[in-house]
Amino acid sequence: MEHYLSERVKNLATSQTLAMAAKARELRGQGKDVIGLSLGEPDFNIPDFIKEAAKEAIDENYNSYTPVDGYLDLKKAIIKKFERDNGLIYSPSQIVVSTGAKQALYNIASVLINPGDEVILPCPYWVSYADIVKLKGGIPVEVKTDIENDFKMTGAQLENAITEKTKMIWFSSPCNPSGSVYSDEELLALSKVLENYENIFIVSDEIYEHINYQGGHNSIGTYNAVKDRTITVNGVSKAFAMTGWRIGYIGAPEWIARACNKVQGQVTSGANCIAQRAVITALNENPDKIEYMVGEFKARRDLILELLGEIKGFNCNIPDGAFYVFPDISHYFGRTIDGFEINNASDMSMFLLEKALVATVTGNAFGNPNCIRISYAASKEQIVEAVKRIKSAVES
Ligand code: PMP
Ligand code: GLU
Repeated sequence: MEHYLSERVKNLATSQTLAMAAKARELRGQGKDVIGLSLGEPDFNIPDFIKEAAKEAIDENYNSYTPVDGYLDLKKAIIKKFERDNGLIYSPSQIVVSTGAKQALYNIASVLINPGDEVILPCPYWVSYADIVKLKGGIPVEVKTDIENDFKMTGAQLENAITEKTKMIWFSSPCNPSGSVYSDEELLALSKVLENYENIFIVSDEIYEHINYQGGHNSIGTYNAVKDRTITVNGVSKAFAMTGWRIGYIGAPEWIARACNKVQGQVTSGANCIAQRAVITALNENPDKIEYMVGEFKARRDLILELLGEIKGFNCNIPDGAFYVFPDISHYFGRTIDGFEINNASDMSMFLLEKALVATVTGNAFGNPNCIRISYAASKEQIVEAVKRIKSAVES
């Protein structure tokens, strides 16, 4: 009966991050000791002060529909956070709270993309960008970046990718999957190019903002040349370990925020009320309060880089943020290991799942077929054991 499905959905790929996590769960269900390094999900508990705020909200009988675009006091907390952490100035009518940053991105695509519009995606990009763009009839335009340039797009590469059909550029910094963080100069170079193209919009996904090991986060929305055309996307999934609470938000030009509000009003009616109340408390706190998680992630990054460095053909950039390593494993293409033919990154990821019982994600999901993504949002013991298994599998 599947032929009854819409063409749009038939052409939609399954999210590879979620699919790999489901596969790992299934194997665990069969009694296999799989180490899951596929999903980008902090393994910390939610800080107690946030849990308390949620409990209070339940006791205070927050149970009705919220304003579609979020409670006003939450929007005010977001405005304060944007100013305090990013130097971005917004008014309440420019903020929309959504069911995760993922829905925020979906809203943006819904309100800005016409069929045939091109969206520039510096590659590697986060797994859902290309499919959200395609779902709205847009055309993802991949801009390949190199490991030598820390997987970052230069101004010249951006300029080359622009055509008359370019509507937007979408990128994340810190980047999922490469962990790259754009410096002030690098963002300035991009904004200088975009200065000459007033009809191009910028989606700046800053959800890993706080998970940054070099200090200093820069928001492209603060650059004069592009500030009226930038939509800043953020959320609480990563910084506050609140993935399941599903709260994300945008700061955007008012006309875009209004349009997102209109879409959301027809699709979800707004984000969960208890989660919104808890997020007010989370955002009002000084980011120092979550510094301990960042310190731990940095120690794990150093550990995994050191361990992977001992495996031939796992060539990594040094990620400055987020919690992923993205090794180029093309050294193994064309080889057969333990009866398993490895011709691309998907083969390597399946090989590691089957032979090493370690779940990773193929780089194909992020637009780079030479790499695999390994999440180090896992305990040090799991990281040590996983890399030991990977080493022994590829060297067998
Ligand atoms: N953007 C990036 C770069 C991500 O890694 C994720 C992963 N969760 C999201 C957006 C979506 O986050 P959320 O959980 O808020 O939907
Ligand atoms: N963002 C996470 C990841 O990249 C969670 C999975 C998802 O939302 O697709 O693994």
